[in-house]
Amino acid sequence: MKAAVVRAFGEPLVIEDRPDPEPGPGQVRIRVEACGLCHTDIHAAHGDWPVKPTPPFVPGHEGVGLVEKLGDGVTHLAVGQRVAVPWLGKACGRCEHCLSGWETLCEQQINTGYGCDGGYAEKMLAWADFAQPVPKGVTAIDAAPLTCAGVTTYKALKVADVKPTQLVAISGIGGLGHLAVQYAKIAGATVAAVDVTDEKLELAAELGADLVIDARKHDVGEVLKRHGGAHAAIALAVNEAAFAAVNSGLRRGGKLVMVALPAHGTIQVPIFDTVLNGTSVIGSIVGTRQDLAEVFHLHAAGRTQVICETRPLGSANESIDDVLRGQVKARIVFDLGAGR
Ligand code: NAD
Ligand code: ZN
Ligand code: ZN
Repeated sequence: MKAAVVRAFGEPLVIEDRPDPEPGPGQVRIRVEACGLCHTDIHAAHGDWPVKPTPPFVPGHEGVGLVEKLGDGVTHLAVGQRVAVPWLGKACGRCEHCLSGWETLCEQQINTGYGCDGGYAEKMLAWADFAQPVPKGVTAIDAAPLTCAGVTTYKALKVADVKPTQLVAISGIGGLGHLAVQYAKIAGATVAAVDVTDEKLELAAELGADLVIDARKHDVGEVLKRHGGAHAAIALAVNEAAFAAVNSGLRRGGKLVMVALPAHGTIQVPIFDTVLNGTSVIGSIVGTRQDLAEVFHLHAAGRTQVICETRPLGSANESIDDVLRGQVKARIVFDLGAGR
């Protein structure tokens, strides 16, 4: 089978021929149909973060495909069934986080495309208990971006506890942001979308944003304050200044939800303003299996739209460059065509 492999940080990915992986106990092998290109894959390939993957590795945590082989003990999935393999490849199931509905905080977790090989490949392994069944009526291409971009932003809005009548700022209308706008609308919020390219701002308006703010031309905090200030700001832009900009546009009691992970990112949080205004800064990491089931359910019900362009896996390197240049409508999905 073919796989796109990170051999060294910062080097182009290499397409390699590898033997089909054999599922161990509790695992399944999947014929990958589609895998989205999340910006996290770029951070992984560049070794951007303090905790690094170990090359060589296959990135990709938006892999979707058909179960091809069951490992020992797997009884709840069937060969031919479509499943998605998210970032949370496996958690321990026993710690306080796992037991309290916060499996995404499990310290024993293994992350797909980071701690084990991911979906930039014709075949991949998954732990069966964490491979999410994809409902009928949801295509592999649509399911791919929902598997990380969807579940992550859906969860971020839950963490922000967004209510109808509230103003929510979505900063960064890329793969994550284009879905965040839709979930915020579903929650009943008034949505302010922030980005630095005309195409992304137009897309946000098409997807229902009530207000668009071009961060190149306007002071984001001032515009938000003019509208009463944001009850919540979801920071999805891979840019430290963008975090500070939306933070300055919160209303009293507002919440900044940090989701993007720029390399070595830090922001200054002014103590006086934070205390007097009673604002919060919260980190939010992907979502649980239940969150992903809800995301798929909403999509199957026709409530969300996935905007993406499909490309062959062989275009991985130029696709990464295009994402970094902001020249992608929302998400790139590698079409591995296994289902056809
Ligand atoms: P993306 O590249 O598709 O989108 C980023 C968007 O930010 C682009 O539309 C870009 O134009 C916009 N942007 C750039 N500078 C900006 C600025 N100054 N102000 C406003 N917008 C600006 O990336 P993505 O795949 O959506 O991922 C975004 C980030 O989220 C990455 O750092 C990724 O690693 C991270 N991420 C985090 C989680 C999590 O669980 N916390 C999950 C998935 C991704
Ligand atoms: Zn655990
Ligand atoms: Zn991701």
